Amino acid sequence: MKIGTPTEIFEGEARVAMTPDSALQLQKLGYDCLIQSGAGAKAGFADAAYEAAGVTVVADAGALWAQADIIAKVRPPSEEEVAYLTPEKLLISFFYPVANEALMKQAADLGASVIAMDMVPRISRAQKMDALSSMANIAGYRAVIEAGNNFGRFFTGQVTAAGKVPPAKVLIVGAGVAGLAAIGTSTSLGAITYAFDVRPEVAEQVESMGAEFVYLDFEEEQADGASSGGYASVSSPEFREAQLAKFRELAPQMDIVITTALIPNREAPELWTEDMVKAMKPGSVIVDLAAERGGNCKLTVMDEKIVTDNGVTIIGYTDFPSRMATQSSTLYATNIRHMMSDLTPGKTDGTVVHNMEDDVIRGATIAHAKDVTFPPPPPKTK
Ligand code: NAD
Repeated sequence: MKIGTPTEIFEGEARVAMTPDSALQLQKLGYDCLIQSGAGAKAGFADAAYEAAGVTVVADAGALWAQADIIAKVRPPSEEEVAYLTPEKLLISFFYPVANEALMKQAADLGASVIAMDMVPRISRAQKMDALSSMANIAGYRAVIEAGNNFGRFFTGQVTAAGKVPPAKVLIVGAGVAGLAAIGTSTSLGAITYAFDVRPEVAEQVESMGAEFVYLDFEEEQADGASSGGYASVSSPEFREAQLAKFRELAPQMDIVITTALIPNREAPELWTEDMVKAMKPGSVIVDLAAERGGNCKLTVMDEKIVTDNGVTIIGYTDFPSRMATQSSTLYATNIRHMMSDLTPGKTDGTVVHNMEDDVIRGATIAHAKDVTFPPPPPKTK
């Protein structure tokens, strides 16, 4: 069978779902690989590099979608892209089925199969396909780099002939995948790093990375604001008040605040209020990784960088993985390659077996055999 990757059409998107390296692995599984001409250019992969890896370069999107049996891409498809689907085809991409219900139905009606990379169950066996974590890791890293790029001082403290430089103080709010990546980056750059999460079980991880976990003055367990299946749930009003009181105390001391707090299927909790921004020193930087879901900071403007009257920079970009397109494409293409490996039980025959009895494949499949297959049943394994 043939697997092909088109150029992403979403404005500003620089990632690509197949790299020359992933294509070599896909060929070992027995697939012929196709790439639309120029698809990898913004991620640093030229057509010639694909050709050298045995990939056929196809002139345009129409030819690519027509020739490929399996289409691997990054962003959810547009209506026009879904219209290319036919009963034998399999599409693998991020899809966000709740937000794109009509497209999901359109794909199912056309008889195509769709695997949503954002629906891969978060169980141990599926970690190698967990593209959400791959992208969150990059976003967390890049948030710190972006903050540094907008901050007028060093992260690390220094004693120089020209005087002593204090280290920067960084607060990371939310210590999930992105938050932990941000903590690792911040501590390795030498900043004094603090982190808070409603899930107290992450305190040990935070501390093992060289950051200080922020505990609340709250009588009940810190667990009040957490936890269902490893994810956060909504905090009680009392817990939230204790959290905001702690942040108010920290705001004037912090140079950089990176917020990553999310609760599944909800708007992002508002945790960094206007008065906290006002209490920060001029030159401080906030990076709000929750911007796409409404923001953790009250003043965040999605996809923009603003500077407040008191000189605080607030960054609300939502395209951090695309800003590191070589890295994110490499990881995403590897996630796809692992998904293809699980879809290819023969391992060398280039033939997809869409096994709906397999927890991971079932969980991620949102359209199959003319049916919408979302939401999936809970996985049977861990
Ligand atoms: P997420 O993006 O949904 O949320 C980010 C973080 O924000 C979470 O740590 C959450 O606890 C925190 N948060 C929510 N409300 C908050 C508040 N009011 N204040 C402070 N923090 C708040 O989460 P994620 O990064 O996708 O991962 C969450 C969990 O899933 C983690 O335990 C992670 O280890 C686990 N996980 C497991 C797998 C796997 O087993 N394959 C893969 C990825 C993640």
